[in-house]
This record gives sequence, C-alpha cells and structure tokens, in this order.
Amino acid sequence: MFKRVLIANRGEIAIRIIRACRELGIEAVSVYSTADKDQLHVKLADYAICIGSAKSSDSYLNTDNIISAALSMNCDAIHPGYGFLSENADFVKIVEAYGMKFIGPSSEVISLMGDKAKARELMIKNNIPTVPGSDGVVNTIEEAVEICEKIGFPVLIKAAAGGGGRGMRRVFSMEDLSTEYTNAKTEAINCFGNGDMYIEKLVINPKHIEFQIIADSFGNTIHLGDRDCSIQRRNQKMIEEAPSVFLDDATREKMGLVAVKAAKACNYENAGTIEFVVDENKNFYFIEMNTRIQVEHPVTEMVTGVDLVKEQLRVASGLHLSKEQKDIKLDGYAIECRINAENPMENFSPSAGTVDFFYAPGGMNTRFDSFLYNGCPISPFYDSMIGKIIVKGSTRLEAIKKMRRAIEETFIEGINTNLGFQYTILFDKDFVRGNFNTGYLSDKMNCLLDRMRLVED
Ligand code: ADP
Ligand code: ADP
Ligand code: MG
Repeated sequence: MFKRVLIANRGEIAIRIIRACRELGIEAVSVYSTADKDQLHVKLADYAICIGSAKSSDSYLNTDNIISAALSMNCDAIHPGYGFLSENADFVKIVEAYGMKFIGPSSEVISLMGDKAKARELMIKNNIPTVPGSDGVVNTIEEAVEICEKIGFPVLIKAAAGGGGRGMRRVFSMEDLSTEYTNAKTEAINCFGNGDMYIEKLVINPKHIEFQIIADSFGNTIHLGDRDCSIQRRNQKMIEEAPSVFLDDATREKMGLVAVKAAKACNYENAGTIEFVVDENKNFYFIEMNTRIQVEHPVTEMVTGVDLVKEQLRVASGLHLSKEQKDIKLDGYAIECRINAENPMENFSPSAGTVDFFYAPGGMNTRFDSFLYNGCPISPFYDSMIGKIIVKGSTRLEAIKKMRRAIEETFIEGINTNLGFQYTILFDKDFVRGNFNTGYLSDKMNCLLDRMRLVED
C-alpha cells in the first residue's frame, strides 16, 4: 500500500479522500491556493502545501506546482478527485513519467474516453448500444446535414471534449442546424479549447442512468449497480439516487453486464462510470464514460457497503479488488442532494461570502460530505457545490422522508443555498412517485420556484 498520497483537489472530495487515506494508514498531503488557506482540507491533512494563487489556472490546474509539491514531499501517488486535472491525460503522463502512480486509469485510456466521439466508435465496435448518430467527428455543416437527413430530427450536437453539460445544442429542424452547429462549436472552443463536434439522435426526455464500475490491474472488473441521475438542471445533476426505481431486474442485469464489457473494451483500471440514456421503453444507450470518481459515488457506497475511494487506493497500489461480482448486493435506497452556494431566486447565480452559522445534519443512515464549518469562507473562484447530503432508507419513500428531515435540521447561514429548492422537490408528487426524466426540472421549474417561495415567505 502507498505510504503518502498527494490529493490534487479541494473541497468535499479532498476531505473524502483524506478520510480514506487515514483509515488505510496512508499519509495525506493536501495542496491549496492562497484563497483556500483556511479550508478544512488544509487542516485535516498530514501535510499541506500552497501551490499558487486563487485562480484555478494558477493553483489547482497548475501542473508544474502540483508535481513539484508531490516530488518534494516524496509522495508515491496522486489522487485527482473529480474536476480539475482528473481527466487531463497530459497531467497523467507527467505523473507517470516521474514514477508516481496516478490513482485512476492510464493516460491512454483517459485520452481515448475523454474524446467522446472516439469513445462512441469504440463502443460501436464492441457491440455496445449507442444512440444513432455520426461516425466520429463531424467536420463541416455539409456533413452535419447529411447525418441529420439520415437519422432524422431532433438531434443533439455535442462537443467531443465536452463535460459538465456544456458544448451541447438540441436541434429540431434543418433550418436551425447551421446556426446551432456554429454556436455549439464556439462554446466548445471557449470551454474546452477544442471545437470537435459529433451528432447524436436526441432521445426525448430519457432517464439518465449510470453504472459504477471498478477494475484492478489484473483485469478483474465488476460493477456496483446503477444510479439514477435524471434530476438535472441544464444537463448538470442535482439529485442522484441508487438504485433507479425505473429499472426492472432484468434490464438492470443486462446494463450491468454491458457496463463491465464497456470497461473491458478499453482495458480500464480503477473506478469509472458508464453513463447511459434510457428511453421510456427501457432501451438503453451508452453516452460516455467518466474516468474518475464521481460526485454522486456515495449513493453507491450506501447501498453496496463498499468504500469506493479505499478501493481506488487499493487497486492503484497493485492489490486485487476486495470484492467479486457475486459479493455485490444492493440493499435499500439511497438519495443524494447536492448543496450548492447559489440563489435559486436569481437564476441559481453563485453566492460567495462567509458561512456565519453552520449545523450539519446527522442521525441514522444520514451522511454529510462537506467542508463547511462555522466561519468557513466560500470563495467565488471555484465550483459552487459546498456539500452533499446522502441518506438511505429501506424503501425509497423512507429515504425521501429522511432527506426531508435531514434538510430541516441543516443550517447554512450567511450565504444563499439551494437547500430550500431541494426541499421543495422532495414534496413534489411526481418526484415522490418516481415519475421523472431528464426533462423534469426544466418542465417544473416555475412551479417548483413558486412553491419554494410560498414555503420561505
Ligand atoms: P459527475 O456528477 O458526473 O461527477 P460533474 O460534471 O457534475 O460530473 O462533476 C464534475 C464537476 O465538478 C466538474 O466539472 C467541476 O465543475 C466540479 N468540481 C471540480 N472540482 C470540484 C470540487 N473540489 N468541489 C466541487 N466541485 C468541483
Ligand atoms: P457531459 O460530458 O457534459 O456530462 P453527457 O454526454 O454525459 O455530457 O450528457 C449530459 C446530459 O445530457 C445527460 O445526462 C443527458 O441528460 C443529456 N443527453 C446526452 N446525450 C443525450 C441524447 N443523445 N439524448 C438525450 N439526452 C442526452
Ligand atoms: Mg456525463
């Protein structure tokens, strides 16, 4: 097992990784920007090193400074968390070149799956169902027209380098195709520095259902069941749950086998997620693989009892997976609400400042992954997610009631949060009945905001 691991991240995921390290007897080295000197991940680690100023490009994305910190501290490995450098193949190559272990797949696999058009091609080659669409990248508007004539409208134009729901445009008719293609390409160049676009048929209001997989360096690959992440705002997840109430056992089993096959198709190692869209007839289609630990991993941990981050550290250090497929049993229902520092009343605009009063939820089967404390500064420089409440019940309804109770006892004062908005969703009939798809939040937004206002007034 590793002796010392550098965590190239901040916030709740850095703390999550520190916890796993401590339980395994590994020393944790945190890195931080000058804006983050008072953050908990700095206090909780065995060592902490400042890697630059507030702007991510100067610190959490500053490869040179992170590598220097890891080398000067004699770290054996680097855990990237999610976001930042976690899916940056060039960073991984440098980590590997310096003889350290990157806790994740190889740089080759990251660049292959990070190009979503290439990932699609690989899946098609391996008979894994994908949404009908282009073979690889679509370079010109003429090509786009040809593909749309073939597959029919509506379509989704997507950035090959895309992530976080950006660089995507829905198109419903030939008239709009050229404008939307150009818009999506411009957004992709601005966000990802890469304007490669591909096209998929737009599945109408699908479910987003994904499978957690993990593989060791001996080729053992298992899945840990599914998560339903259909509650999304602008293609970004807000509530996640495991398992999905929509899937029957037969479909779940089929999808699990396909997810393992997809991971094996790219010789995957470590934890990853295979994402699918599922239509109302339960046809499922691969959309992408995320080659890292995911924000919503705790719901899987709650229903399987497997500590995914410890398992990541185990397999990265060359140990075998501690479980076989037959050991994975799903027990109960888990739900996660992402808590963001944002103002739902003002189009969810991010809110920065100081948390001047804070109280975390607790109780049986209630988990709070966060970095908050009384007096915690919330910086405008980083992602607005400040924590996640995760609960488990023996039924989905019990989990929903527990989540309502957990939110009722949570206090985060001094900044705006989406707690009230999440609370409102938990009382919505369609949500409670499991009657939702990825269109849920946009369809119901005004009505949910109205109800939230009534409760808060
Ligand atoms: P998923 O939910 O599937 O893991 P997301 O795209 O929602 O995928 O999560 C990754 C996103 O989290 C990144 O795009 C980034 O905006 C954000 N992020 C990165 N680092 C952090 C962090 N330390 N704390 C909170 N959010 C972060
Ligand atoms: P990102 O890399 O930004 O996470 P994804 O390819 O995972 O991009 O897509 C993000 C979300 O967009 C999905 O969760 C789903 O809601 C929606 N989406 C993606 N592809 C399709 C599609 N072909 N049809 C309908 N919805 C889709
Ligand atoms: Mg995705």
